[in-house]
Formats: sequence, C-alpha cells, structure tokens
Amino acid sequence: MLAPREQLIEAARAMAARGLSAGTSGNVSLRTEEGILITPSATPYEALTPEMIPLLKLDGSYEGRYRPSSEWRFHLDIYLARPEVGGVVHHHAPYTTALAMARREIPACHYMIARFGGAPLRCAAYALFGTAELSTNVLKALEGRTACLMENHGGIATGRDVNAALAAATELEVLAQQYTLSLAAGGPVLLSEAEIENAIRQFATAYRPNIAS
Ligand code: 13P
Ligand code: ZN
Repeated sequence: MLAPREQLIEAARAMAARGLSAGTSGNVSLRTEEGILITPSATPYEALTPEMIPLLKLDGSYEGRYRPSSEWRFHLDIYLARPEVGGVVHHHAPYTTALAMARREIPACHYMIARFGGAPLRCAAYALFGTAELSTNVLKALEGRTACLMENHGGIATGRDVNAALAAATELEVLAQQYTLSLAAGGPVLLSEAEIENAIRQFATAYRPNIAS
C-alpha cells in the first residue's frame, strides 16, 4: 500500500499518461485524517515528489513549500459537502472539454451514466477558474451525481478514494467520447428515467467487483 502522497502522485501521472490532461492542466486530491493532499499549482506531474504535495486544511490554509492547485476551493468544498468522497480528479480531457465548450450536458445516452448517480451529467455554469463562484457552480452541477462537466473548461469526477475518482474521470471521458460520436451518427436515442433507475439498481445489487480495487 502506497503512502497517501505517493498515491496522489501516481494518480496524477496516470491521469496525464491516459491523455486526460495535457501539460499542467487538471488537478488531483485525496482526503486524509489531517486534511486534503492536493497537487501543487502549475507543476508538471513528472516532476512531483512527495515533499512537494501541500496539505490543505479544512479552513483553506495549507502547509508546505508549494502552493496548492488554483482549484483548491472546489476540491475542499466537495469534501466538505460530501463525506463519502475520498478523492477528486479534475481534467481537461478532449471529449469532455469539447462538450463543455459547446455547453452541453451528457443525457441518458448510455446505461453507464447510472454509474455516476443518474442522468443527465450536468455542465456547471461558467466562472473564472480558481474562484469561489466556480466552486458554487460545480457543487450545484454535482447534486446527486459523482461527476460533472464545467462550461468552457473540463470535467470533475469524485470517488471513495483517489483511484476510484481516477477511474470515474476516465469513464467520464469515455462516455463523453461515445456521446460525441453518437451525435455524429445521427444522435442517440435516450433511455427513459425508469430505464436509468433500473440500471442504478442493477449496479447497486447485481454488479459486484470480482476483485477488490
Ligand atoms: P492548477 O495547476 O493550479 O491545478 O490549475 C490547473 C487547472 O486545470 C485549473 O483549472
Ligand atoms: Zn482546469
């Protein structure tokens, strides 16, 4: 089992390696008993070492030599609002961001949307990056969901830990890609609310992982 700072670095590097975040775009965090470990602002993921990871306190102050991500506020606000969340991933992945630039939400186009709590996956109203206003808009878009898009920006996914958040962020990008392609194929036929409810129930009852992650 990796130490929390190493887990965070591994998740951030995996996000970049999967093509979810170019350059220093995006950010990753995880919850610990002491506070929130979050990627430092504007720092290449390959250059990260455990000592460079700041610890963000619940009052918004931080410990460490490096400034936390400029998006520390929505990370912190998500943890404060959602006790079940242990990890948050924000990215500018191509298909997620293409939909976000078109200010489109993702509708009930595939049963896998149930994995995020239901349909649609909303697109948070635009606000300047790094602001409390953006955080407010993100929290609203996340109501009843574990992921959302952000207008003219990117996407956010949450999970019980940082690996689950990274898996969700990866699946969000796949869903965004599939939806975008289906638009080109004539547009998806949407599932009904009842069909999405059934899929949510099926995930909760019948779909169990064979191995613990
Ligand atoms: P940071 O490098 O400050 O985390 O910012 C990247 C980003 O995606 C801002 O929205
Ligand atoms: Zn961003």
